[in-house]
Amino acid sequence: MNIVLMGLPGAGKGTQAEYIVKEFNIPHISTGDMFRAAVKDQTPLGVEAKKYMDAGNLVPDEVTIGIVKERLSKPDCTNGFLLDGFPRTVPQAEALEVTLTELDKDIDHVIHIDVAKEKLLARLTGRRICKQCGATYHVVFNPPPKEGECAACAGELYQRADDNEATVGTRLEVNIAQTAPLLEFYEQRGLLRNIDGDRDISIVFKDISNILRSTQI
Ligand SMILES: [Zn+2]
Repeated sequence: MNIVLMGLPGAGKGTQAEYIVKEFNIPHISTGDMFRAAVKDQTPLGVEAKKYMDAGNLVPDEVTIGIVKERLSKPDCTNGFLLDGFPRTVPQAEALEVTLTELDKDIDHVIHIDVAKEKLLARLTGRRICKQCGATYHVVFNPPPKEGECAACAGELYQRADDNEATVGTRLEVNIAQTAPLLEFYEQRGLLRNIDGDRDISIVFKDISNILRSTQI
């Protein structure tokens, strides 16, 4: 079962990824992990990628797709994989198609955890941190017993500067604009599965696993 997982920051992608790989026993392949492993193993492409990263530059697509190909060729991907964080653009998605064909593989599902921007804003701007002990809270999901006060040490809670609505809103807009063509690309191929992510984590996962099970051999 070969899956691409998509979702904006705050949509709960990380949590669902954990559930999926556990339930279906496939490797979770995130871009960051893949790069770190290639650099650590000093594969030729890893060495190449490191040059760009050390210089503070973006790793070019041909290097990235090479690393993806190396990773997807490993034996643990025989029964499937969950790609997370790649592809990010339509050219990358096209390159992935070519690579998968070379490996005699196909994408079965592109799972898109869909949450409206306003809801994501509320999720992403709700974090509060204790000035004294660093404990974190969330005004909706994990509120402190007493508003603005840490339950552990009674310290004052504050909001990190980059958690504010303007910063988070801009970040989301950039992400939405970047993701839209990619969603359309997979929609046209009949692979896109939109999952309403504005529900309980376990219900979202139930939806996802129903879709995955419906095609499992
Ligand atoms: Zn505290």
